[in-house]
Amino acid sequence: TAVTATPTIKQVKLERESELRIEVANDMPLRLRLLNGTAEIFGTELPPEMWLTFPPRLKFAVFTWYGATIEMEGTTETDYTADETPMVSYVNVHAVLEGRRNRAKASSSSGSETSQGPRVIVVGPTDSGKSTLSRMLLSWAAKQGWKPTYVDLDIGQGSITIPGCIAATPIELPIDPVEGISLEMPLVYFYGHTTPSQNVDLYKALVKELAQILERQFTGNAESRAAGMVINTMGWIEGVGYELILHAIDTFNANVVLVLGQEKLFSMLRDVLRNKPNVDVVKLQKSGGVVSRTSKVRQKARSYRIREYFYGIANDLSPHSNIANFSDLFVYRIGGGPQAPRSALPIGADPVANPLRVTAVNIDRDLLHVVLAVSYAQEPDQIVSSNIAGLIYITDIDLQRRKITYLTPTAGDLPSKYLIMGTLTWLET
Ligand code: ADP
Repeated sequence: TAVTATPTIKQVKLERESELRIEVANDMPLRLRLLNGTAEIFGTELPPEMWLTFPPRLKFAVFTWYGATIEMEGTTETDYTADETPMVSYVNVHAVLEGRRNRAKASSSSGSETSQGPRVIVVGPTDSGKSTLSRMLLSWAAKQGWKPTYVDLDIGQGSITIPGCIAATPIELPIDPVEGISLEMPLVYFYGHTTPSQNVDLYKALVKELAQILERQFTGNAESRAAGMVINTMGWIEGVGYELILHAIDTFNANVVLVLGQEKLFSMLRDVLRNKPNVDVVKLQKSGGVVSRTSKVRQKARSYRIREYFYGIANDLSPHSNIANFSDLFVYRIGGGPQAPRSALPIGADPVANPLRVTAVNIDRDLLHVVLAVSYAQEPDQIVSSNIAGLIYITDIDLQRRKITYLTPTAGDLPSKYLIMGTLTWLET
């Protein structure tokens, strides 16, 4: 006879300014609803009495400002309540940003410095809650009718598209606690690797491209200019990581730097930015609820993220399998490539590879299980400066028939025949 597990329903009463921290089980979703009071998940209010289904492994907190009762159905990895949170300091930051947005909106001269709303950059080590704080600030702003721009520079755990990409998208509504950021028209650039050291110059070049496009969009749009942006960054804060934080602050003209959970980084940034009176550097406490992930867990999270891109968060998308001839597609790699032999160079010159050089890649079995970006470039020499339409995943290479089989999240022809390859691979499990 079959064993039927009776679903366990549990009620949790939350006092004001406390939160219920949950890690959903590894193999089962969790259902949850707000029974009474008011509560939010990372800045987005919960609808009253509506059951929401959270996918396996999700880690989140239900926070209440004034008290609430939550009902849960299913099992969790962990769940506990905490009354010590940094939420008051976070919402105070939000209030300051609101003031700046209102001032920007009120100033009529749209080209001037004063019509620019806050450009917030969130920095800190891995697992300090950067993505979560970015999300709260965006959702609180959207709730008040602003359309701030979310910029995600984190190639390790991208929250807009997939790892290896940097991206920007306007946030028009509070971010859905289950579905995450809605992807209507994100502006995405493909870096192709999950660590910045792989090609620092390329990373900087893409950040610059992204910033320039946004700057142009802001010029013609007073509303999004006043709403400003929230920029999430990577967890690398030492060496080249620190250099890239400074590069991002500079390139985006950030005027508010929020430093999470690291005294040393805060004091370094405060000192180096001292001569920029328009830039505020603010230290914020890391939430005790932020879950630390080992590099193995992070690696796994990247893999799930790629899966979600093709199959949907709740496995609700059905990706399309397509077949193309070798001759229909052109695959390129950025950086590296064959170097000039020393004998061909002037005396004393080192044969360094050009990090932004675009080289054609032969289609062979090495492309199997690789994730490629579909560039909007019209010509190969525009590949570095072009954003991408999306990603494809190579599932088969038939050398005899010279055919490639690949997966796309939606049906239809590829918008371009130029594909970019990095070191991003995925094994479908
Ligand atoms: P970072 O961007 O600095 O790497 P994240 O914001 O992604 O860190 O947080 C790491 C993990 O911790 C995420 O899975 C996030 O959902 C979770 N998390 C953050 N804050 C809380 C909290 N207060 N309660 C429970 N989980 C949290």
